[in-house]
Formats: sequence, C-alpha cells, structure tokens
Amino acid sequence: MTTLINKYDNKCALHKDFDIRLVCSTCKVVVCDGCIVSDHNGHRFDFINAENSKTIFEEFKNNHIQNLDKQIDINNELLNESNNLFKSLEDKHTENVNTITEVFKELSKLLQIIEIDKIKQLVTLYDENKDINTNISTTIHDNLNNINLITNKYKNTINHINIDQIINNNKNNNNYQHIEILKHCYQSRLLIKDNQNENKIQELINQYKNVNIVNNCEQVKESIKEIFEISNSLSITNVKDPKRVTAGGNECFIYKDDSIIPNGTTHVAIAPSVKTVKIGSIPTSVKCVILLDGFNVKLTEGMLPQSITHLFVGAIRKPLLKSSIPNGVLNLFFLDGFNQAISEIPQSVKELLLFDTPLTKFPYSKNIFRSTKYKQQITHPRVYTWDTAYYWEPKIEF
Ligand SMILES: [Zn+2]
Ligand SMILES: [Zn+2]
Repeated sequence: MTTLINKYDNKCALHKDFDIRLVCSTCKVVVCDGCIVSDHNGHRFDFINAENSKTIFEEFKNNHIQNLDKQIDINNELLNESNNLFKSLEDKHTENVNTITEVFKELSKLLQIIEIDKIKQLVTLYDENKDINTNISTTIHDNLNNINLITNKYKNTINHINIDQIINNNKNNNNYQHIEILKHCYQSRLLIKDNQNENKIQELINQYKNVNIVNNCEQVKESIKEIFEISNSLSITNVKDPKRVTAGGNECFIYKDDSIIPNGTTHVAIAPSVKTVKIGSIPTSVKCVILLDGFNVKLTEGMLPQSITHLFVGAIRKPLLKSSIPNGVLNLFFLDGFNQAISEIPQSVKELLLFDTPLTKFPYSKNIFRSTKYKQQITHPRVYTWDTAYYWEPKIEF
C-alpha cells in the first residue's frame, strides 16, 4: 500500500489540523468540521461543486486579489506604528530603570552616611560615660590607696606615738616625720569630712547618661516601599481627534495630517493623530495654537511659526525641547495633564498660565498665573491667582 502525499494544501485556513470538507452557502467560503460546529453553526452547507467553486473563484479573481496589495501597505504601516510605539515604551523603560537605579544608589549612600552618623552620636555619648567612669575609678582608687596607707601605718601604732617627742627630735635632726603625720591627719579629714568625698563621687555617678534609641525601622521600611509607584495605562488613549475646539470663544481649525490651513486662519488646534507638522504648513496668520491631548510629535524649530502669540499645551507625549516653543509666544498655557520636560521657555513669553499640571519647576523667571485647577505648591518670585482662567480654557468636543 502506498501513502498518497497530497502536494496541495487542503487544510482549513482557520483550523490547521482539519481538512476542508464543504462550502458554507451562507458565507460563500470553504469550511471544515471545526468551522461547521463553531462560527458557521446553523448555516447552510453544500458539497464542493463546480458551481460554488466558480462563484468563490470569481470573487477571488475580481476582488480580493487586488485588495491584497493594499493590505501589504496597511500591515507594514501598522507594524511601523507598533514598532515606533514599542520603541518609545522601550526608551521610557530604560529611563525608568535608570531613575530607580540612580535613586537607590543615592539612597544606599545616604543610608551609609546616616549609619555612620548615628553610630558616631552613640560613640560620643559612650565616650562621655567612659570618661566619667575613669574619673570615678581614679578618684576611688586614690582614696583607697590613701586609706590603706594611713590605716596600715597607724592602726597598731597610733597609741604609742608620742607626738611631743617626735616634734622635738625632728626639730633637731631635720626630720619630716611630724610633717608626714600632719599630712595624714589632713588627708583623713578630707576623706571623712561632711561626706565630702562621698558626695563628690555621687555627683560623678549622677553624671552618667542613659542612652536609648527609638527604633522607627518598621515605619521607615513601610514608607520606603512607597518610594516609587508603578502604574500602567493603555498607551493609546485619547488619540481620538476632536470634532470641535474653541479657545477664548474662538473656533479653532483642527489640523490633521495633510490638512491645508486656509490663509487668514488665526486659531488652530493640532489633532493627536498628526504624525508630523510640516514646516510652513501652519500659515503665519495663525496667532493661537492648541496642542491637544495625545499630540505625539517632537516639535523642532520652525514647525510652529513665530507668528504664534498664544500657545496652549495639553497632555502631549513628547518633551518641549529648545526651540519647540516659537520665540514670539507671549502667553504660554499648560493645560490639564501636561507633564513633559521643558528644555527652554523663550524670552518672548511674558505670562505662564497653569491649569492642572503636576509640574512645579519651569525654566522661567517672569509672571506665573495659577488657575484654581492648579494644585501644586510652587516657589517662584511672581505667582498670581488667575480668576479668568475658565474663559481661556479650550473647550473640546468629540
Ligand atoms: Zn475550519
Ligand atoms: Zn457560514
């Protein structure tokens, strides 16, 4: 018996282990047993015959095959988009890992410094106690020596000492025995007088310091876990282009890829779907530009014309680099969710106006106006409250 090896592919396109068996007359496609019991459940089926094969083939020839070419481009574009998005996520990942590494490096240095400092404080206190101890020991040792010396010398002889005789003898012989006796008298007196010696030692003992440590380690350990919060969100959100945008009561032209902005237009909102801003595509009649939430183009010099006086920046995805903001902008607005690095704010900017952005540091020294939406503490020489913010905040409709 010979096994026939089929050189043609007769397996189902969806269920690779199943043979194609029938035609689904409802869907006009070939199906396997797997198809029949799942997606095509309840449909009408037919044996594969000349008639239905011809119908299916004609559609393939006249329609599908032409559209496959387009699918190549679409697939490649999607692959590109996915890879670009992944690349930015990868960059962000590297940046995040570096930040955490740096901060922990600093922390472990700080921990070493704190450890050394705390031990130094303990050692200083210990040394003080040690000095007190030495002082007491020395004093008592001296006392005991003196007591021993005096008692040994006098305890058996004191009754036999004839002081008159010693004084008379010594005067003649230049002997100091009587002086020594008088000294021992004085020393004895010092040792016993009014508990003086005892009090002195007691005073020294009272100087010993108890040293305690309050161990806050568990609390610190708990709070240090909160050092970084890691969150994630869908990377493609809010990229829907709005239908209508107004700013300060003015209707904005919504700029998308390949849009042609009519000359004379003054207000433009740049849609998040925009992949690039061609230099010259925004006419110099434009005075007011809104970078909408999700805008993801790295702004380089010249993309935004110098005619712009009012620039509104939403929750964009790329940092503001040197020359991103044209040097002609007078009022720079940071809208809700703006959280990108800013390399430079040009000299032309006279007023920086803040909505709900988490940023607190700006490369800027002139007037800052904070709306009631701005929640941060800010240290800047000229910060003012901004009562008419609601009038300026762009209104966006989807
Ligand atoms: Zn199937
Ligand atoms: Zn079907």
